[in-house]
Amino acid sequence: MLPLPWVEDYMLDIAYFSMEVALEAGMHTYSGGLGVLAGDTLKTFADFGFAAVGITLLNELGYVEQGIDSTGRQVSRPELWNKEEYLTKLPFTIEVPFKGRAVACAVWQYIVVGQFEKEVPVYFLDTHLPGNNKYDRTLTSHLYGGDAYYRLCQEQILGLGGFILLDKLGFGQEKVRIYHLNEGHAAFVGLSLYSQGRESHLADEAAIDLVHSKVVFTTHTPVMSGHDQFSSSDVGKTLPTKLFNFLPEEAFQNNQLCMTRLALYYSGIVTGVARSHEKTAEKMFPGYDVVSVTNGVYHLAWTHPNFKSLYDKYIPLWRRDPAFLHAVLGIPDDEIWAAHRSAKQELIEHVNQTSSVKLALDVCTLGFARRVTVYKRPTLILTDLKKLEKIAAEVGPLQIIFAGEAHPYDRQAIELIRQIFQKTQQFKGNVKIAFLEDYGMGLATKLTAGVDVWLNTPRRTYEASGTSGMKAALNAVPHLSVLDGWWPEGWVEGVTGWSIGSQIMRTELDDQTGWGLDVLDLYYKLAVEILPLYYKDRTGFVRIMKCAAALNGSRFNTNRMVRDYVSKVYFPLKTKISANTLGVSVNDPLK
Ligand SMILES: *Cc1c(COP(=O)(O)O)cnc(C)c1O
Repeated sequence: MLPLPWVEDYMLDIAYFSMEVALEAGMHTYSGGLGVLAGDTLKTFADFGFAAVGITLLNELGYVEQGIDSTGRQVSRPELWNKEEYLTKLPFTIEVPFKGRAVACAVWQYIVVGQFEKEVPVYFLDTHLPGNNKYDRTLTSHLYGGDAYYRLCQEQILGLGGFILLDKLGFGQEKVRIYHLNEGHAAFVGLSLYSQGRESHLADEAAIDLVHSKVVFTTHTPVMSGHDQFSSSDVGKTLPTKLFNFLPEEAFQNNQLCMTRLALYYSGIVTGVARSHEKTAEKMFPGYDVVSVTNGVYHLAWTHPNFKSLYDKYIPLWRRDPAFLHAVLGIPDDEIWAAHRSAKQELIEHVNQTSSVKLALDVCTLGFARRVTVYKRPTLILTDLKKLEKIAAEVGPLQIIFAGEAHPYDRQAIELIRQIFQKTQQFKGNVKIAFLEDYGMGLATKLTAGVDVWLNTPRRTYEASGTSGMKAALNAVPHLSVLDGWWPEGWVEGVTGWSIGSQIMRTELDDQTGWGLDVLDLYYKLAVEILPLYYKDRTGFVRIMKCAAALNGSRFNTNRMVRDYVSKVYFPLKTKISANTLGVSVNDPLK
């Protein structure tokens, strides 16, 4: 239908579905890590020249624009952005079937251009059309907004609508090699494919085989409540009856449709986002085999201009393949330090201009920024401020910069922000604390490049992967973190950064005990290792910075991640299916 000359044989390698996609700081089409991963993945597809497209919702009013009032309470506003500035409207609409009606969608296109001029289009579905009823017009307005019913309708637009859009673009299922579902929100893609198979007279088993030969599902959520569940009665109200009747028994639990179970049911291969997460996901969903593909970040999006110039000077190949960042080990220390110091200066100036706290360039600075939720434990480092002050007085001063948004319905998270904010008012001595409003890609870029140490303190097994520490690594910023998510794979103690607490302590320890032990170890690491190194052994500190970039920047990027998807998932998907057909079971040697 549309001329896509870059698609050889008119076959699409990958149709990538995600509820949120983060492409540019000014496009508020994302809330956090899931969207950033989607955007970084699509950028890497473009670098590799894959015939790929991304499909998402317009999210016209964004997620949350965060303000903090004088008492520290988060005030959220819609996060307006100007779609015309970034997107082109395509000259057609599609119709998405709902029970008893169809919802029309306009389609907006964004083109990701890779390093070598290859293009990957991203399509944003938009229901704000005069022909739709008032409610339907709002369905692509608020990312993760509204109630469960609203989210169900959104997921119907994404899954059913995205599938129909591909067909309209000339990519019927026989022209699509892989449908990649980034999180369970897009599980209705599997249902569409199955239903189409049945309608072309395949028996149940053959239709499932067809679906399994094409659908890949990446799960991201180690927290049970994070998996979308919709009541059967709601699903019965919105899904066309024919599709509703095709839904498998296995996807329901206690009369709720679980989108993760639905996605699991339809997938040929299921992936988790770190090795530790693979285990967690397999425990959550017994009977499913989960392959881990550890996340990464797109190197050209997350490396500060200072480091880009430095890498260009010493390691020109790093742009093409960031695996070459191992050669950071050979860059002179003073040049690494100078690049870091000027990135830090930009950050400190930004903090001093935008908050009431005044930070200093020569003080060791920790950064902590992520979506605020209870399990990420943002206040862990603030547990015993007297002790922290004592350490800072004896060893050297400390600055901590926080940022992050709470979901407007998450009252506990909003309370955590208030607590941090109040602490920013209390300290003006050897420990200074700043909270920056409205965390987004722009601020994430400044923070991950500008602090001296990146901090992460999640409750164990709750961090599926975590990618902000990977952004820090690209900028030679070492990581200080609980051993969860990606960190057990990148951690070499005292070489690439530091651990907090024991590696094996899992959720068996009650929260209070675990919290206490982690605080003790965190303060110990600061007092005995990190601050002395920073203030008394600059060469030793720069060595760790270089190892962070050389060992972890070179590995925890989407270039390596997409190669892993190809070798561990996209390619084996084919062989796996044919092997099953032959009655042979193959052990994946790469797992
Ligand atoms: C990278 C990023 C995240 C994800 O960070 P985590 O470490 O996975 O929590 C979230 N939000 C923004 C704006 C980001 O840039």
